[in-house]
Amino acid sequence: MKIQRPRGTQDFLPQEMAKRRFIENKMRKTVESWGYQEIQTPIFESLDLFTLRSGETILDQSYIFDDKGGRKLILRPELTEPVTRLYVEKLQAEPKPLKLYYFSNCFRYERPQKGRFREFWQFGVELIGSDRPESEVEVIALASSVLDTIGLKGDLHVGHLGALRALMGDLSDEQKNSVIRFIDKKDNEGLRTYLEEIGATSLEENIRALTESEDIKEAREMVGDVPALERLEDISDMLDIYGISHKIDFSVARGLEYYTGMVFEIYAEGLGTENQIGGGGSYRLAHLFGGKDTPSTGFAFGFDRVVLALGDIQLPQQTKVMIVSTRELRDWASRKVAPRFVQHFHTEVDLMSRDINGQLSHANAIGATHAVIVGDKELQKGEEFVTLKDMKTGEQEMLTIEEVINRIRLMDI
Ligand code: AMP
Repeated sequence: MKIQRPRGTQDFLPQEMAKRRFIENKMRKTVESWGYQEIQTPIFESLDLFTLRSGETILDQSYIFDDKGGRKLILRPELTEPVTRLYVEKLQAEPKPLKLYYFSNCFRYERPQKGRFREFWQFGVELIGSDRPESEVEVIALASSVLDTIGLKGDLHVGHLGALRALMGDLSDEQKNSVIRFIDKKDNEGLRTYLEEIGATSLEENIRALTESEDIKEAREMVGDVPALERLEDISDMLDIYGISHKIDFSVARGLEYYTGMVFEIYAEGLGTENQIGGGGSYRLAHLFGGKDTPSTGFAFGFDRVVLALGDIQLPQQTKVMIVSTRELRDWASRKVAPRFVQHFHTEVDLMSRDINGQLSHANAIGATHAVIVGDKELQKGEEFVTLKDMKTGEQEMLTIEEVINRIRLMDI
């Protein structure tokens, strides 16, 4: 019986994995140098964690199950709620703002297509404990810096949910959330039907005008001088000072219901409909999980989409050493020579009892950069002697092990 991997999941072959790790490490380095510390939370959580505020869309798409003890569990569809739960349980007393980051897999039962999977990875940060605009700007600036480091151009759109909420005046919170969901999905037809249903068709035109506007002044004429617009103006001015180009976009609504204020999304070219590579915003969740009311801002990149958007990238060539020896000297080479190299480089030995030529051609096949030959000629000169062969140029030279290590190290830089 041939068994295939489940729909919407991915296998990563060594080359793809090397590329993913290369990108991931660059992203980690950037956020760490801005002071963010890594955390990890469980792959499954209590369902309750996500029923309080994520919103219907996310719950509809989630893998929810009972364990053998009858507990309702959920495979995490995203990380903001787990991070907040962890914060409430263990980190509330830490100095603020608290800066955390994660790189974790998430699960959503969506219709798979290019850039949309049922298991995918999110790389994200949460800045917990500040509601200052400079904190919100830092989070956006960090997202932008992560993209710069990996060499990906993203189109940044920044909005504020307060503007939309103000426009909707006396609709209930639930109704406002529903409208925001339609806007997030860009489902105009659904929005129209819904507004008809709740007797608020007069809002349709205003919502369209606001979500099409890219101008804070214009928005003020529609919704008045609300604090949300003042905040968005501050954020936009600061982003200008940072030199981060961005567009004001009131249609950035985010599918998750916990966002309370500034929201942003980043799009990349070449991904078709699934072009949103990341998004984030400001939210308040801690009080819902038994903690103190805590303003926070965060973002998550869809790591798989980031990798897709980067396309083919040139990875730095990794030094790979193959220890090549005669059959008689194989044990010597494996036990005495190889351990000296493996301390410094990726090093392999012959495991197939091949002759010297066979080992050299295997070295070639696996992309070894250097072969270290251990033969009679070398041993006659002394136990410390080996021949270094540069696999690219074919040049050979007999040297001591120490000299070879230094030589390869120099080439490695
Ligand atoms: P969200 O938690 O919905 O704000 O998603 C954050 C980011 O994760 C999005 O901007 C996408 O880049 C990525 N993402 C969301 N859902 C998927 C999915 N099904 N497959 C791949 N990436 C996803």
